[in-house]
Amino acid sequence: MCQHLITCPPADATDREAARIIATFQEQGWSLLCNGVIVFEDTGELLPDGTTIEPHRGPAVHALAA
Ligand SMILES: [Zn+2]
Repeated sequence: MCQHLITCPPADATDREAARIIATFQEQGWSLLCNGVIVFEDTGELLPDGTTIEPHRGPAVHALAA
């Protein structure tokens, strides 16, 4: 799927989010990466094989300071 000169990480790699964004749907809150992974703005992910990854963004720094 990826046709970049330096191949992006595949969907089953732990660094899958490092793949390039090929389409963004900001109004819907998700982006499609060139390895077929869909990344949602809450950091949840949907892999090409249908696997879902729960959001894994930590709390904001200002929330920790409070
Ligand atoms: Zn790529």
